[in-house]
Amino acid sequence: MNTECKNKDHEVILQIFSGGFLDKAVSYEEVERKLNSVLSRLPVRKVIIGWALDKTLYEKTAEFLAKQNIDFYLWFPVFSETGALKDLSALTDFLGQRIEICPEEDFSFCCPGDSQNIEKILDIFDKEFSSVRFNGVFLDRIRYPSFGNAHGFNSVFSCFCPHCLEIYERKNFDINQLKNTLSHTACRPLVIKEYCGNGKYVFEDSILEAFFSLKAGIILDSLRRICGHFREKGYGIGFDVFAPFLSLFVGQDLGRLSDLCDFIKPMMYRVTKAPAGLPFEAESLLKETGRVSDMGSSKFFKMTDSSTMSFAYLKKIPFNLDFAVRELQDLAYSSACPVYAGVEINRIKDIAEVHPPYLEETIMAYCQTGIKGFALSWNLLDAPEENIVKAAEIIERINR
Ligand SMILES: [Zn+2]
Repeated sequence: MNTECKNKDHEVILQIFSGGFLDKAVSYEEVERKLNSVLSRLPVRKVIIGWALDKTLYEKTAEFLAKQNIDFYLWFPVFSETGALKDLSALTDFLGQRIEICPEEDFSFCCPGDSQNIEKILDIFDKEFSSVRFNGVFLDRIRYPSFGNAHGFNSVFSCFCPHCLEIYERKNFDINQLKNTLSHTACRPLVIKEYCGNGKYVFEDSILEAFFSLKAGIILDSLRRICGHFREKGYGIGFDVFAPFLSLFVGQDLGRLSDLCDFIKPMMYRVTKAPAGLPFEAESLLKETGRVSDMGSSKFFKMTDSSTMSFAYLKKIPFNLDFAVRELQDLAYSSACPVYAGVEINRIKDIAEVHPPYLEETIMAYCQTGIKGFALSWNLLDAPEENIVKAAEIIERINR
């Protein structure tokens, strides 16, 4: 592989998890100590932090970062987690079952098609965070649940609440035809005829394409409203999104979403065995779309270049580098705004086993895809020193 990168000015975004809405926030001293140890070594342009409720932590961090001329963004989970603070309406699956929101459970989602939910979510921001001098908001969970969600298949085939049914009717979408297709899935797979790259799929049954496109439209309309709210206040906007090959199933049309924000961060986590992690989500996707007898050698996941991908190939850890690079290239090429590759820098036992050789391989390959930089994710506070040293060394090398 050619190791020369055209862009010699890769920027870095740092992400810090300060705790969930119901958790005790990390201390400001810990955040400052870590930032002080890292900032001189990396070309950091933005720091994203969230979403524990602690105004003092954010006010102090805002002051600290303003002195360093670094943009400060709030990490805000939109359609999940917010249910811990407000009574939001739940998703309903295609069988008519509500997928209840459990405040204690991460990744439990509300319905993005219910406009009252959007108002309540914006109220949370206004009440808890609008007094802090953030330069922008980094919107996460701007999607439906994925196949990796606890309700798997059923949560992807949502939402069928009264609000969403109304939307489908307005768009002349035949719900019964979809239900009919899905009722056969117990004995047949949801056959994907082809993956064309850049998030585009061809299904054997075209009703599925129509359904996913409707879901993407709902997310887009909701985000237009949400972004309007933040633009009015003068905030910059970043989006946390799934990799292209996963985006369709969670209602994310990355090309169109990239029109609404200032930067987009696809989570290109190659070793993360948790939601958004490529091996984790790929395994769930393949399990749910190809649930037939012979999964081990199933060859339904076809690429444009006619090479065929097998189940075992995609769920391997670390996730296939060439595939990840191609995904990133597609997105960097088609995105209307700059793309920052989300790469894990934290190490969490059994969940994200991130070590220096992985960082080196990943950053070296991703830097050749046309991206603007890297979002070192998802929690700087859990990044071991050796990972920071390696990331700094590689980014310095590629920018030389
Ligand atoms: Zn709904």
